[in-house]
Amino acid sequence: MVVKRIRKTILSKWVNKLNLNNIPIEFIYTNNNTFENGLCSYDFNAKKYRIFITPNSDKETYIHELGHIYFDKLTNALNYYQKNPFKNIYIRNSIEDGFVNYNLSKFNEFYDLINENIGRSKPINYLIKSFSLNRLLGGYIYDYLHWNFILKPKDRNLQKEIIDYNLNIYQKAILIRAKQEKIKFNQKDLFKLRIILNQFPKIKDLRDYKILKKYEDQVLEKFEKIRDI
Ligand SMILES: [Zn+2]
Repeated sequence: MVVKRIRKTILSKWVNKLNLNNIPIEFIYTNNNTFENGLCSYDFNAKKYRIFITPNSDKETYIHELGHIYFDKLTNALNYYQKNPFKNIYIRNSIEDGFVNYNLSKFNEFYDLINENIGRSKPINYLIKSFSLNRLLGGYIYDYLHWNFILKPKDRNLQKEIIDYNLNIYQKAILIRAKQEKIKFNQKDLFKLRIILNQFPKIKDLRDYKILKKYEDQVLEKFEKIRDI
């Protein structure tokens, strides 16, 4: 009961803070673990957002899921979704999450959560053993964008060791998994991927969804052959 009350308080506080009061949002509490921590989607028929919250969801998740709606609003993104159904969901999501959390990180309370949580689930070795290449790349892109472009330099320096360690593990795992899945993806491809990812600071403040999506497409061009699991 207490958990429910805290959850409700956080959600309504952030709906206000992000100015989402006029947007129809349905919160669905579920034990379905395919949603992992949480999920936000828009139903074009019902014309409303649905946020799925699971027992794993924490404060960062609640705010993050609302952050998707906030980001859509900032960039008028629904126009895009309507025309372009998604493929390569892990990779797209991780880039999108970078934009979402970057915008949310301007609120100190959320920034502190990301900063606290970033080292929390590490070491990550055990986690990534079961991941497909697609999912590994999603995880790598997510962490790369957060660590390099969302954390403030002073916080990044404090966590430098763990950041380098984890990115390294991801890179090794990606190369091994690519071989196992017989997909041509090597050190050079990783290097090219980082060149594209490093464009993030140039566009992170833009409000033109077409440019942001073009950035996603650029990343994805590298991965056409990768199975979407
Ligand atoms: Zn997300």
